[in-house]
Amino acid sequence: MTSASTPMNIPLVDLKAQMAAIGLELYEAFNRVSGHCGFIMGKEVADFEAAFARFTNAQRCVGVASGTAALHLSLRALVIGPGDEVIVPAHTFMATAEAVLMVGAKPVFVDIDPVSYCISPELAEQAITDKTRAIIPVHLYGHPANMTVISRIAAEHGLSVIEDAAQAHGAELDGQRCGTMGDLGCFSFFPGKNLGALGDAGGVTGNTPILLDRVARLRNHGRSSKYEHEEIGFGERMDALQAALLSTKLQYLETWTEQRRRAASLYNELLADTGLTLPVEKPGARHVYHLYVVRTDKRDGLLEYLKENGVGAGIHYPVPLHRQPVCRAHGLDAIELPETERAAGEVLSLPIYPEITDRQIEYVSHIVKKGLLA
Ligand SMILES: *Cc1c(COP(=O)(O)O)cnc(C)c1O
Repeated sequence: MTSASTPMNIPLVDLKAQMAAIGLELYEAFNRVSGHCGFIMGKEVADFEAAFARFTNAQRCVGVASGTAALHLSLRALVIGPGDEVIVPAHTFMATAEAVLMVGAKPVFVDIDPVSYCISPELAEQAITDKTRAIIPVHLYGHPANMTVISRIAAEHGLSVIEDAAQAHGAELDGQRCGTMGDLGCFSFFPGKNLGALGDAGGVTGNTPILLDRVARLRNHGRSSKYEHEEIGFGERMDALQAALLSTKLQYLETWTEQRRRAASLYNELLADTGLTLPVEKPGARHVYHLYVVRTDKRDGLLEYLKENGVGAGIHYPVPLHRQPVCRAHGLDAIELPETERAAGEVLSLPIYPEITDRQIEYVSHIVKKGLLA
């Protein structure tokens, strides 16, 4: 008999569990592509794009090389560049702001709503100047940003909205899926994301054909046809192999999302009386728990204790973007973002993935409780 205290090793994310479950099907996808040797774009990419557009309820999806490329090409498609400002949160992965810097525009960092950890719409509105062109809300950890208010503000001020949905495959707000509420939605299929390739891949979703046409052209050297290049583009295409693997995995995504939601609800139950601040699913939101993030002012000691006891916890993200050396070098650090700073010092990501077992969640919760008393 094992009890919740029998030592275990539990990683933050367990990709091997998924490979063990569907590895054979992935080999079939590999064999299909290696059979025809059309390794870039082609039918596999078109099929995945159609399937992911259906999944997201978007008119179209354009497959690209990564989530970062999705953000970069979306900004280019909206003709955002030098002299323009783009409002972004600082509590996110670097790529959100990096894409803005890549096109020569200025990221304007705005503080978060401390409950959802997503950008505060009110503070975003206060940051608008006559140079502002767009807002990039991030659906962080798998929880939708407050798109209702952000869309209204954007419409009032004539701004574009690019959703960073890299962590939010299948997340919803009032029945609408992330990636369809702004002008363009950017997805990452990095291996550890809720839908992950076996390498890098990304996608741009939306309902505006002219913008998606531009993204499709920009990803492929500005090509309008095989031998005609209309503009300077990029080599940011999706591989056929990744598309084939992603199409196979996409069939499981709803099930995996429900498994993540079930894991989160068991954590919520087991950690209810610990004094930890647990993740919140706001009214109308469907959280897809890319990460299960708790917060506590005892974070650093607890993280250490978890590691010593075989629990692979993580921090997303310990250094706010405006404090990153690269942003300092661009003079973007002369601002105060108190909720962002507080979150950076207190958030802790516990292991979550579709295949995580109740026993594993019980063990993690047991160690968390012990760690809080230690
Ligand atoms: C993963 C991620 C990205 C970048 O995606 P890549 O595919 O790694 O380039 C962008 N934004 C957020 C919020 C992410 O989590």
